[in-house]
Amino acid sequence: TSFGHYGFDDILLQAIAKQSIETPTPIQKQAIPIALSGRDLIAIAKTGSGKTATFIWPSISHIMDQPYLEKGDGPIALFLAPTRELAHQIYLETLKYSKYFKLKTTVLYGGVSKQQQCKELKAGCEIIVSTPGRLIDMIKLKATKLNRVSYLVLDEADKMFDFGFGPQVLSIVNHVRPDRQTLLFSATFKPNVEDFARTILSDPIKISI
Ligand code: AMP
Repeated sequence: TSFGHYGFDDILLQAIAKQSIETPTPIQKQAIPIALSGRDLIAIAKTGSGKTATFIWPSISHIMDQPYLEKGDGPIALFLAPTRELAHQIYLETLKYSKYFKLKTTVLYGGVSKQQQCKELKAGCEIIVSTPGRLIDMIKLKATKLNRVSYLVLDEADKMFDFGFGPQVLSIVNHVRPDRQTLLFSATFKPNVEDFARTILSDPIKISI
C-alpha cells in the first residue's frame, strides 16, 4: 500500500486497509514521518483532514516500540480533547487500530459516573483519551498516574483555550514525563496557542495544511 514506506507494523497496515484507507491525506503525508521520528509537532489542520489517524497510528508504533512493555504499568499515550464528543470520537477511532495489538484504551469525560471510570483505569490501560477536567479528577482520586506517559497529544488546542482549559492542561502536562513527545493539533494558531505551544513543546516542527 502507499503506507508501506512509513515502517508501520504489518498488523497496523492491515488494520488501515480494513478501513478502506488507501492513500495518506496531505496532513498524514507531512506529519506521520515527523511523529514517528520522535520530534514534537505543531499541526494546523481541521477536522476532516485525517488528523486523528495522524496521531493514532504513530502512537501505536510508539507504544509497541517500548523496550519494556509491561501491561498494567500505566498509560503510555494520552490524547486530550476539549469536548466529550471529540474525546468519544477519538476513542472510537483509536479502537479500530489498538484492538489488534491488545492495547487497552480508556476514554474519560465528565457527566458520567466517576466510579466506573476509576475502576477501568485501575484495571490498567495503555492509551487514555480524555477531556482535561475529568482527567484531573482521576489524578486526584489516584485512579491513574501519568508518569509513564511519553506520547502526549493535544487535539483542537485552540478550542481548549477558548473553553478556558489552559490552566488544567498545564497542570496535566506537569504530571507527564518531561522527556515526552508532544503533538499539538489546532484548526487555527492564535497567539495564546502559540505561547502555550512554546511552554510545553520542545523544538517543535510546525506544519500547516
Ligand atoms: P478526521 O479529520 O481525523 O476527523 O478524519 C475524518 C475521516 O477521514 C475519518 O472518518 C477517518 O477515518 C477518515 N480518514 C483518515 N485518514 C484517511 C485516509 N488516508 N483516506 C481516507 N479516509 C481517511
